[in-house]
Amino acid sequence: MSSSPRVKAADRDWGHDESGCTVLHVDMDAFYASLEVARHPGLRGRPVIIGTGPRSVVSAASYEARRYGVNSAMPTSRARRLCPQGVFLPVDMAYYRTVSRAVMEGILGVVTDAVEQVSVDEAYMDVSGALLRWRRPTAIGAWIRRTVAERLSITCSVGVASNKLIAKLASTMAKPDGMLLVPRDRRAEFIGMMPLRSVPGIGPALERRLNSWGVHRVSDLTAIDGDALLRATGSPATARTLALMARGDDDRPVVARRAAKSIGAERTFIRDTKDADAVLGLLRRCCDETASTLRRRGLAARTITVKLRFPDLHYSTRSLTLGSPTDAATTIFPHAAALLRAMLGAGDGPILPTALRLAGVSVSGLSEATSTAVQPSLDDLAGTRRDSEATPAERYGNRGDGGSSKRGDDGATEREGRGMRLRSAEKALDRVRSRYGGDSVRIGL
Ligand SMILES: [Mg+2]
Repeated sequence: MSSSPRVKAADRDWGHDESGCTVLHVDMDAFYASLEVARHPGLRGRPVIIGTGPRSVVSAASYEARRYGVNSAMPTSRARRLCPQGVFLPVDMAYYRTVSRAVMEGILGVVTDAVEQVSVDEAYMDVSGALLRWRRPTAIGAWIRRTVAERLSITCSVGVASNKLIAKLASTMAKPDGMLLVPRDRRAEFIGMMPLRSVPGIGPALERRLNSWGVHRVSDLTAIDGDALLRATGSPATARTLALMARGDDDRPVVARRAAKSIGAERTFIRDTKDADAVLGLLRRCCDETASTLRRRGLAARTITVKLRFPDLHYSTRSLTLGSPTDAATTIFPHAAALLRAMLGAGDGPILPTALRLAGVSVSGLSEATSTAVQPSLDDLAGTRRDSEATPAERYGNRGDGGSSKRGDDGATEREGRGMRLRSAEKALDRVRSRYGGDSVRIGL
């Protein structure tokens, strides 16, 4: 959800010369809230606020809710006071990511490969390679807006400009459900109207410093000389970037998104807890969600990391790396559970020695599932796994052999066979979830 300030006067017709305007910024309107309305049409027109729980923050708010002053990152408790009649819904990240993928790959990716996704609901596109077919960048923007609305029953806004800086500001000004073209030769005039905070790199502290020098709008920046800007920012690089941006220039290229480095899920407990069952139950859900995301993206992971947050808000993480990549919660969860107990110095008891505020799991060391042996290799089946591939039950001593290599062990084959069956069960669950929603079923591990 964009928190950039809006300048009403900037949302107007800036002209129709599209030459050189090959950068599009596509931004879904109130994405999470719009998605909830799309699947619960009865909510249309009502203030919808995503983020429940007494200790959570607002992740998204529909435009109806924003009229009550509700904004993203605001504590949910405050949003409830501002908008008691609001419809408060929990975050369903798995669902939002699925739709995000349908937008990014199924719609934007059809136009060009040069899509730089910057968040779940926002992307830059360099459409220069697509103009032979589409002729005009605004034709692309119009098609994207129409297709998103038709297929997904949500709206998006599009900025069309000669660079990322201007395209992003243009989409913000066009919101909601609009498109704005800023011709190349109007870019300085356009950005000149903007408040300082709309320029990336100008935070509250720098804004205050610049204000104290009489600089309030971006156009004022062009009036101060390089030395003064250097003194205000304290950094030659920042001063240079600001001087460029103040004229509406930005040479950052659109970089097609690199593959994610890690995938994970985490949750905050309703209240701090030492209850081992509650913690493991939550960790299991996180593993389930993470594995499901891996499979949806056709990825497998080798490294498993558990993250814990304590009541005093400090974090702790611990990782382990498997011998071969996996995309199965049935593999990830036992390792995560063992990591958790090891981190807390906990035995098998029902009460953990330390209370937790949050727990989560992430996986990294990602590879394409198709190019890696997700299912057990022949070596595994022959029982020649290396120590690092031992199951947690072995490694953490439940079998009493401390995870030593097992050769010709029938138990290993049996376990792998069970692993393969569980994995196909998980894939079946993916299909159910894709039809009935992310929370409809989960596997009992
Ligand atoms: Mg958005």
